[in-house]
Amino acid sequence: MKHRLQFFAFLTLTVMLFATSCQKNETLSGPLPKVHIIATGGTIAGASTDIGYDAGKVSIETILQAVPELKQYAELDYEQFCNIGSQDMNDSIWLSLAKRVNQVLESGKYDAILITHGTDVMEETAFFLNLTIHDPKPVILVGAMRPADAEDADGPYNLLTAVKAIVRPEAVGREVMCCLGGKIYEAGAAFKNDTHSIDALSATSVDWYLPHNANTGFYTDNLEELPEVGIVYCYGSNSTVALEAFINAGYKGIVLAGVGDGNLNQETLDLAAQAVKNGVMIVRSSRIPFGGVYTEGGEVDDEKLGFIASGSLSPQKSRILLMLALTVTQDIDTIRSYFQNGVYR
Ligand code: ASP
Repeated sequence: MKHRLQFFAFLTLTVMLFATSCQKNETLSGPLPKVHIIATGGTIAGASTDIGYDAGKVSIETILQAVPELKQYAELDYEQFCNIGSQDMNDSIWLSLAKRVNQVLESGKYDAILITHGTDVMEETAFFLNLTIHDPKPVILVGAMRPADAEDADGPYNLLTAVKAIVRPEAVGREVMCCLGGKIYEAGAAFKNDTHSIDALSATSVDWYLPHNANTGFYTDNLEELPEVGIVYCYGSNSTVALEAFINAGYKGIVLAGVGDGNLNQETLDLAAQAVKNGVMIVRSSRIPFGGVYTEGGEVDDEKLGFIASGSLSPQKSRILLMLALTVTQDIDTIRSYFQNGVYR
């Protein structure tokens, strides 16, 4: 357990130093780096309404006009990939986005990619891209918690922070990054932990750190869809209705957001064990954001029941890894290795 805590401390320090060093990057020499912006929507592209605002309404062109300082740090061009609240992100958009990012990087024309994105599922998009992008050039997702037309909009500052970060040499060969509240987080650790604060992202502990040029073996080029994987949320007195529904719908994998250390009530555990026998891949994760789920020292015998322990991955990140793993293998030991190391080893 000790090495996990140490890794968390190291990672947090790295993120802080990296973010701090970005604040100091006020001058650059030589030709400006080229950054391609892929706009997907979110509150950073939000427009106020009578009750609050609608995400994904303002064009990237308008958003960029509010931050003319960006041009001091990079030569920018942009595309409006979609304009949605990230609650409407889905597997199909993730596949297209990963293909597009790989295509832009392979063109060799750009030094970095910046993706504007909603914060609700930013950590999932970042994690998906981190496992499917194969070029070390920096990729960063940038969000905001206040709409573009708010008088105290936070999007412009986050954009500036992100651009200053990705043009630095230290940004190459890292994980996909997320920028919010003027801070940078990396894909494995990032998670949203506040529904309203402008500092809504945080970092959890991670078992492995995987720059996006690491050889995960997950390629999206020839994929038209991802295997169906669902998440079942557990709670005191939960029934098996949701789990049964996923099984009956033919889902290939199911992630259990268990209580505490990934624990499951007896009915859930029995049905999940039966599903394993019928060929469904079951990952046991937890609704608790810190500490992870491991077979060793826990209450559930994953080996005997055929479950996969999620390690430090949240249910939503476990879902993404399981979907991608199922595109390359059906072998439980190989999939366990992905959960333990991020790669097959
Ligand atoms: N619902 C918005 C989204 O995720 C919230 C945000 O961007 O902060 O697109």
